Amino acid sequence: MYATKFGKIMSDEVLAKKSYKTDYERKIVWKSVINLTYIHLAGIYGLYMAFFQAKYQSLIWSFASLVVAGLGVTAGTHRLWAHRSYEAKWPMRFILMIFQTIAFQDSIYQWVRDHRVHHKFTDTDADPYSARRGFFFSHVGWLLIRKHPDVASKGATIDCSDLEQDPIVVFQKKWYTYLVALCCFIIPTLVPWWAWNESLWCSWHLVICRYCINLNGTWSVNSVAHMWGMKPYDKSLSSTDNTGVAILTFGEGWHNYHHAFPWDYKTGELGNYGLNITTAFIDFCAYLDLAYDLKTASADIIRKRVLRSGKRRDPHPSVLL
Ligand SMILES: [Zn+2]
Ligand SMILES: [Zn+2]
Repeated sequence: MYATKFGKIMSDEVLAKKSYKTDYERKIVWKSVINLTYIHLAGIYGLYMAFFQAKYQSLIWSFASLVVAGLGVTAGTHRLWAHRSYEAKWPMRFILMIFQTIAFQDSIYQWVRDHRVHHKFTDTDADPYSARRGFFFSHVGWLLIRKHPDVASKGATIDCSDLEQDPIVVFQKKWYTYLVALCCFIIPTLVPWWAWNESLWCSWHLVICRYCINLNGTWSVNSVAHMWGMKPYDKSLSSTDNTGVAILTFGEGWHNYHHAFPWDYKTGELGNYGLNITTAFIDFCAYLDLAYDLKTASADIIRKRVLRSGKRRDPHPSVLL
């Protein structure tokens, strides 16, 4: 808390939001522009091959890769490491680390740091993918230009010491380049070629297609789910509940709920596994005794929040019980 020159007491959050400005020199990172352009062109070609050339085993393999890579991001980096919404024993953390490496969305350490900055400084210049800078910036543009200086300076206030104490996170950070080459590209390309004689050309483009879909799914949480959708829990937040994004991202589209209750392992109020595959996965791991200490908001807490700050005039029946 700070006292302003007018004697008003302002919270860190309000101060952060007031800092919004974009008057810094935008510097394009051409290497990222070239890489991401290639990934999207090759990804579209891979989609074409999926329909007209690939063997059915390769399609099953690609879909399985997409699912595990997605879970690595949603159940791993997001719900476990970024928010600590549940705890996981080391075999589960190791598997999630491999899954997250298949997704190639930066190391767990970097991903979590960016995401914690996003939650603490949402919609300010310190937010790495602030939706106030437009759809394109929040979706992919933030990866194509140098970061705003506030991201680094305010990001330095984020505590990531818990990650430094997790040997699996430290191991991945140290060997990230080699692990990504193996887990995201080399093994997924070679297995269909070796196991069912798929052409390397086709296999490679299916890998890029899977990678491209996975990237755009994750990015849509930062862009679409900060622009379009419902705000049942807190209308002051830019984040929204968006069913389309929830389907695409295994349950991460209930983003108004998530910013209201970031510590809830379900990242959503309703228990529909079909629209929240990640919750089903974590519950299954809890059943196997691999995940524990699952944190979730009670119906009473949710109801009070909806009535206090939600936009929904007609609260969902479940919150009135
Ligand atoms: Zn968000
Ligand atoms: Zn989050």
